[in-house]
Amino acid sequence: MDLYEYQAKELFAAHGVPVLPGRTVETAEEARAAAAEIGTAVVVKAQVKTGGRGKAGGVKLAETPDEAQEKAGAILGMDIKGHTVHQVLVTEASDIAEEYYFSFLLDRSNRTFLAMCSAEGGMEIEQLAVERPDALARVPIDAIAGVDRAKAAEIVAQGKIPAAVADQAADVIVKLWETFVAEDATLVEVNPLVRDPQDKVVALDGKVTLDGNAAFRHPGHADLVDERTEDPLEAKAKAKDLNYVKLDGEVGIIGNGAGLVMSTLDVVAYAGEKHGGVKPANFLDIGGGASAEVMAAGLDVILGDPGVKSVFVNVFGGITACDAVATGIVEALKILGDAATKPLVVRLDGNNVVEGRRILDEANHPLVTQVGTMDDAADKAAELAAAGA
Ligand code: GDP
Ligand code: MN
Repeated sequence: MDLYEYQAKELFAAHGVPVLPGRTVETAEEARAAAAEIGTAVVVKAQVKTGGRGKAGGVKLAETPDEAQEKAGAILGMDIKGHTVHQVLVTEASDIAEEYYFSFLLDRSNRTFLAMCSAEGGMEIEQLAVERPDALARVPIDAIAGVDRAKAAEIVAQGKIPAAVADQAADVIVKLWETFVAEDATLVEVNPLVRDPQDKVVALDGKVTLDGNAAFRHPGHADLVDERTEDPLEAKAKAKDLNYVKLDGEVGIIGNGAGLVMSTLDVVAYAGEKHGGVKPANFLDIGGGASAEVMAAGLDVILGDPGVKSVFVNVFGGITACDAVATGIVEALKILGDAATKPLVVRLDGNNVVEGRRILDEANHPLVTQVGTMDDAADKAAELAAAGA
């Protein structure tokens, strides 16, 4: 889960990283009041989960409360790269002497954590990495050893942060590592990390991605979810504990096991090329115990997607045998009743497949077609989706 800048900076503050005071508001009038309360010039900043807000006109300096109201009025409701601005952060303005870049991230391809640091911050990191790769230090972090003062000093030196603020920057980096570890983040980024004219180092922006797999360790993280910007189908799936990801295609997919579901997406995308380019509509792994309730919940979510024209249920029976899954499908269709409207292509294989197929044959549901192999079933599902589109 990605956090808003204001949420990221609240986490930073809780871990001792220096940030400037601010308040998040949803109306121009509240922005005025916040600016008056802060009592200095402020910066009004769009809170959207995308970068480049500054360039898009979503970050504006306001000298007075009146001006803060006016700037907030202009920024609220703006669309920045497809994200609507529902709230702005009104925060004390800082004078900037220099802008640095700093981040910790999970480097999956190298199976390690990585620190990235540069004295040339401010601009987008992708651009810096391409245009001035030598200016961006990349320092692998050992997960066990972590980041102590010595490691932080090494990162600061490699990033060519000026000596006058090197100690402060190292301090900030140790605290950002504490944030990264304590909150189970996969990304903590500060761009810019600024040096003000008094040589004080402050995190002026913040980007944090939390590891959803660690959510059970952080009951407080649930409060950070913004329901306004969540995909309604993904929210519904989450509420039912389903591993669901919405995609943009026409063939709904249900399978048991993440590997099987991923290969099902590939097979459907491939088959879809012969049927007008139809594509998978989602990823949904119903896991090992495919009970009727789980199957019904999964079908309910998928059929709620107006883009879906057919559904491919691809199950390889293992510990949960095919007969249990087949019963699950039949019961799920009973639970859904008239809500089930799209054709279902079912491919069963593995443990107890003969009994599973018999149960579906016997139920003889008008929406269900059984197909023996994964390739043929994908082809049938794509054909039905193309016909229904
Ligand atoms: P982003 O464009 O989405 O990354 O948003 P940032 O929070 O990084 O802001 C963009 C730019 O606005 C920064 O790089 C700064 O140059 C500028 N900026 C942000 N806050 C302040 C501030 O308090 N004072 C000044 N002078 N500039 C700021
Ligand atoms: Mn930034």
